[in-house]
Amino acid sequence: MSGRKLIVGGNWKCNGTLDQVKAIVDHLNEAHVPCPNHIEVVIAPPFCFLPVLRNTLRSDFHLAAQNCWTGKGGAFTGEISAEMLTNLNVSWVILGHSERRTLCSESDEMVAEKVAYALSQGLKVILCCGETLEQREKNETNAVVARQIKAVADKVQSWGNLVIAYEPVWAIGTGKVATPQQAQETHAAIRTWLSQNVSESVAQQIRIQYGGSVSATNCKELGSQPDIDGFLVGGASLKPEFVDILNARI
Ligand code: PGA
Repeated sequence: MSGRKLIVGGNWKCNGTLDQVKAIVDHLNEAHVPCPNHIEVVIAPPFCFLPVLRNTLRSDFHLAAQNCWTGKGGAFTGEISAEMLTNLNVSWVILGHSERRTLCSESDEMVAEKVAYALSQGLKVILCCGETLEQREKNETNAVVARQIKAVADKVQSWGNLVIAYEPVWAIGTGKVATPQQAQETHAAIRTWLSQNVSESVAQQIRIQYGGSVSATNCKELGSQPDIDGFLVGGASLKPEFVDILNARI
């Protein structure tokens, strides 16, 4: 056993109405999940639903935002600052998701700036990384992931509040999940990179989630890989099967 506690995130992306949010929260609140002893659960709804979840979601589940700004708030129309999240008692933020890197042109440096600032404000961060299909086919997976993590390593000294989510872009929302072997290989490569470039203790202690078409059917095998410490779940986190994913190691 690695000694790393399982951590599963539900990334709702830009989905949900108030009624749907209430139905999902009711379902989660009734579910049997061995929390907080055996698993940490982090739910990331759209920003506007964070206060609703704060008031209605069971208190053993944590909340995350799906993004935040690179620094202190101010004249940044449409943005949310790390301070606003901590003010709402939101303890986590997902940064560097591939949809933001691609659709919102977030560079490695911008993501790293966000990570460093969010950590400095006391937030815990799920840092996403992952390669495109083209990059995988060119055998560039490890180099791409290392480049994305290096940008953060250049700006961050303390890794205790960081979790990495390895999410191959070709597996996100496509139903094409990475095989347990493919995921394990990349997770192990991330640990090797961290041990060579940050420290052996960070490499051993950091939790690395797998994300990309995780479902109730594939989570057990993925979750049994030695370097997979949980999941970042998109589509299935909006469905009742999310509870089965939370209980993947039971
Ligand atoms: P998916 O999304 O589970 O719908 O593939 C995962 C993610 O984007 O975090």
